[in-house]
Amino acid sequence: MDDLHEQGGAARVTHMHGELFKSRCDRCAMPPFEDRNTYEPPAEIPRCACGGQIRPHICWFGEVPYELDAIYAALSACTLFMAVGTSGMVEPAASFVAHLRGRARTIYVGPEDPANRASFTECYLEKAGELLPALLGC
Ligand SMILES: [Zn+2]
Repeated sequence: MDDLHEQGGAARVTHMHGELFKSRCDRCAMPPFEDRNTYEPPAEIPRCACGGQIRPHICWFGEVPYELDAIYAALSACTLFMAVGTSGMVEPAASFVAHLRGRARTIYVGPEDPANRASFTECYLEKAGELLPALLGC
């Protein structure tokens, strides 16, 4: 949800859980817009021109994650999949690795066993900050 991937130089990031520094209308199709307000919250929830409420561009629990079509399209072309530091319990992301079974190298890196460990071809129970530089040749 933050922009750490972009700050790290990633050019293609899919924010399936939204973007912390954007807001959107809860009613109309106005695209999410940059919103880095760090001041005190307003006395009233801001309104869109359509009358809807402006809300964080974040996927709350119980809502459908964003950009699932793009994610499944990317998975269909994927040959290397890496999950880092996830519990492997929250759907639909927990099932992404299962879509790749038998046709892609799938790697998990994290300090604890994920719930979906059996779906990975490789599992490294180590701290990502220590293992990833070596694994990725950085
Ligand atoms: Zn609106």
